[in-house]
Amino acid sequence: MTPDSEHAFDPPFRIGHGYDLHRLEPISPAGSGKPLVIGGVEVPQVAEPPVGPVAHSDGDALMHALTDAILGAAALPDIGQLFPNDDPSNQDRSSTDFLAEAIRQMRLGGWQLANIDLTVLLQSPKLGPHKIAIRERLAQLVDLPTDRVNLKGKTGEHVGPVGEGRAIEAHAVVLLCRNSQRD
Ligand code: MG
Repeated sequence: MTPDSEHAFDPPFRIGHGYDLHRLEPISPAGSGKPLVIGGVEVPQVAEPPVGPVAHSDGDALMHALTDAILGAAALPDIGQLFPNDDPSNQDRSSTDFLAEAIRQMRLGGWQLANIDLTVLLQSPKLGPHKIAIRERLAQLVDLPTDRVNLKGKTGEHVGPVGEGRAIEAHAVVLLCRNSQRD
């Protein structure tokens, strides 16, 4: 690109945002329903009945939001385009596969992750006791130090779908930097 090009300014960074919501339903005593997996970590529940996400895949809303943030920052197709929810091969699939593919495509495009900031909205259980485990798991998956993967937990203040325990929501913001190692 020449300096006098219309788009001469090509910043060495990109920002991306991802959002996801999954409906939560009680897991039946017979064991039907999916466990509550948040950022690759199965979160134990003390409230009865335990709830799980309604989803084609494993329903990990946080990992879906993160995957979409990375894809968005790199101007790639979104998670629903890459992994359609009517494709039988994605049935009950671990969302770590989705994140791994987003990372792979991001790197092919010449980008690397700088940091990740995440927010989960969930009425119950409280996320506090599980934050470190989730941050460490995600940091491992994306190959970042844990202090560049942040996670905040919010309740729904007992109102709306989140507050009434009927949904989990997640937001992700990521910053990508151009990979200086790239040839
Ligand atoms: Mg989802």
